[in-house]
Amino acid sequence: MRDIDNIRSDFPLLQQKVYGKPLVYFDNGATTQKPLCVLEELRKVYTDYNGNVHRGVHAMSDLTSEAYEGAREKVRSFINAGKSEEVVFTSGATSSLNAIAFSFGERYISRGDEIIVSEMEHHANIVPWQMLCLRKGAVLRVIPFNDAGELELDEYLKLLSPRTRIVAVTQVSNALGTVVPLEEIIRPAHSMGIPVLVDGAQGIQHGITDVRSLDCDFYAFSGHKIYGPTGIGVLYGKEKWLSELPPYQGGGDMVDRVSFDRTTYNVLPFKFEAGTMNYVGAIGLGRALDYVNELGREEILQREKTLLAYATERLSAIKGLRIYGQAAEKICTISFLLDNIHQYDTGMILDKLGIAVRTGTHCAQPVMDHYGIQGTVRASLCFYNTIEEIDALGTGIEKVIGMFS
Ligand code: PMP
Repeated sequence: MRDIDNIRSDFPLLQQKVYGKPLVYFDNGATTQKPLCVLEELRKVYTDYNGNVHRGVHAMSDLTSEAYEGAREKVRSFINAGKSEEVVFTSGATSSLNAIAFSFGERYISRGDEIIVSEMEHHANIVPWQMLCLRKGAVLRVIPFNDAGELELDEYLKLLSPRTRIVAVTQVSNALGTVVPLEEIIRPAHSMGIPVLVDGAQGIQHGITDVRSLDCDFYAFSGHKIYGPTGIGVLYGKEKWLSELPPYQGGGDMVDRVSFDRTTYNVLPFKFEAGTMNYVGAIGLGRALDYVNELGREEILQREKTLLAYATERLSAIKGLRIYGQAAEKICTISFLLDNIHQYDTGMILDKLGIAVRTGTHCAQPVMDHYGIQGTVRASLCFYNTIEEIDALGTGIEKVIGMFS
């Protein structure tokens, strides 16, 4: 992997100062910063060849369509999907999850059917299923997790039943950092013919995701969490499912032929891409995936493992600090609380020291309920963070404790 100073120079925002102090950006779970090559790619679309996709016979439209479909192919290759028809662009993970909850629900869910999610899901992988349950009279079942933050797989096996229609789980918990053993979720579900959706919002950027070897039926993620632009996301679905599911939005480009008597739909993946898509975002996402590949996904994973080990050791040594989420398999996210100090106070003082962390429930209120707490402070790291920044966090936390003692 390239030298870390050299890598950091790709990210203009990391050079910022906050209150006169060098910015330490530890909120990568919420959104990641963008390398210059992505910003340049976005500019290039608008200055060199912008035209709406799949619409014109003119050169600008052709060039943009080619770049947009090129981005789809980059996503396909990045997640190792079998066909680019299985890659649908959306506005983000939330929109991908809602699309499946709606479409799958319309086609396959009836009164009394069951849907399984886990206790550690982000609200985006809970609420759309609850809305579906309300609409259809279906029932939501929940896989619990233990205090270390690991899913209780024995309990999961007990929840699977002939009424289960789909299982929807996260790849990585945004609140605890837990890496979910997806194979152990998918295998038993498939043995009963039940499809599995994976929320990859916190997984895609850490390590290597191969949807074909995982054999998941659906996979969702957001561009902005993998160094790409906001407003663009991906929904992968196996062709056999996507071709069966009804579209969830109607409009331009998703149709084949429209008349007042009858409308027929476009082929995959366009059936699920109604209206003018965020094609500039998709092209930017394609460039971000190239960037990640250029750095090396295995190298990123190894560097992030080193950062996690160091941060865990440094923070665990602080008296009065409790880490929430101690799963054996974790990505580099550390959720914690300080004895008798509210998480907002901790977050606000760290901010004054130039350290950006997230505070609150992290859109995972059931996780907080599990521990009987209001929220945590979350430091979510990625490859461009450094050991020195982790030391700055450790020193900052000690300062917070000192102020309150
Ligand atoms: N799932 C998980 C696990 C997440 O962490 C997030 C974002 N915090 C989402 C889904 C939703 O992503 P977005 O807001 O980009 O749609």
